[in-house]
Amino acid sequence: MGILACPVCVIQLTMDEERGAEIIEGSLYCEKCSCNYPITGTIPNLLSSEVQESSV
Ligand SMILES: [Zn+2]
Repeated sequence: MGILACPVCVIQLTMDEERGAEIIEGSLYCEKCSCNYPITGTIPNLLSSEVQESSV
């Protein structure tokens, strides 16, 4: 698993979960824009952040 970056800020996301061999569920947090990205079934969902600003 590589380093995950915020699609908005393009900085490394902070893992909000216990360290393990593999991330199954948890969330990634961006310190810059305060977004939380959910991880579901080891797949980080970077497209559905919980912050709603401008809809494209
Ligand atoms: Zn961000």
